Amino acid sequence: MNIDRVMVVIHADKPYGCISFIQGAGRAGRGGEDVRSILTIERGAFMQLCKTESRTLNPDDAAMQEYMTTTGCRVKVLTKYLDGPEFERDCRQIDGRRCDNCVSPKRVREDDGPQTQKRRVKEHLLRDRTVRNFQRRKSKDMKYVMDVLECLQNQCAICWCFQCTEDILHEAQDCPTVEFLLEDIAHWKKKNMYVRDSACFGCSVPGDMCVWYSESLTCVRKEVVIPVCLMVFTLNHYAGMKIVNQLAGREFVDMKDYSRWLVQRQRVCGFNSTNAFAVFEGLCRKYM
Ligand SMILES: [Zn+2]
Ligand SMILES: [Zn+2]
Ligand SMILES: [Zn+2]
Repeated sequence: MNIDRVMVVIHADKPYGCISFIQGAGRAGRGGEDVRSILTIERGAFMQLCKTESRTLNPDDAAMQEYMTTTGCRVKVLTKYLDGPEFERDCRQIDGRRCDNCVSPKRVREDDGPQTQKRRVKEHLLRDRTVRNFQRRKSKDMKYVMDVLECLQNQCAICWCFQCTEDILHEAQDCPTVEFLLEDIAHWKKKNMYVRDSACFGCSVPGDMCVWYSESLTCVRKEVVIPVCLMVFTLNHYAGMKIVNQLAGREFVDMKDYSRWLVQRQRVCGFNSTNAFAVFEGLCRKYM
């Protein structure tokens, strides 16, 4: 989305992570205007967030949690996450509009003794390494999944899923197995829609991985994720169902139950996505 003169960005509920939040908020003020970023969250969800141990979150979610729950400057949290604690700067230092906490301070604690400084640099180096490793691993995984997806543009995704070796260069609708595909994909997709900002409605990859989706255009990539996911369930594909049940933490009673789960939000390799894509990613990893 590249729209001029966006003056306010409102996030309803907790964003997927800090990077996703920054990207979203960054859609405002492209012309250098003075803009606002507003984040709303339901009270119960907020209390839950305050109670969550940040150790149990990935670095991106932990930064988002700190941003939302801090009583100190919010800009400080963002600069700390992006640039590291020794380069963190608050609203006054970046000379921008003050964040809500700086406008009406709650209890801002200043602890900048040399001892604290030293400890923070050490913590930063450790955290920096964790973040880098995390991102490197995730982006490598995602690149592999996207490579598989590109390959499947020219061959049958179902034959790939069932590891058929001969003649895979046909379309899914011409596949010898297609009689088992009880659902019409186009019809299925009308009944089971993705929530906004998760996956591309056309190709089912994370929205941020599809240029057409990002630019609000009609996606031209062939859909391979959903046919694979439906086939896995219909034919009770062993490895596929193992991935499904592990991800969901339960078994499904029927196709309707399974379909509803497929379109729900899920983070995959650090990207906003859906359970369907997570299943596909699991299969890619299996066949790696
Ligand atoms: Zn501030
Ligand atoms: Zn086939
Ligand atoms: Zn797409």
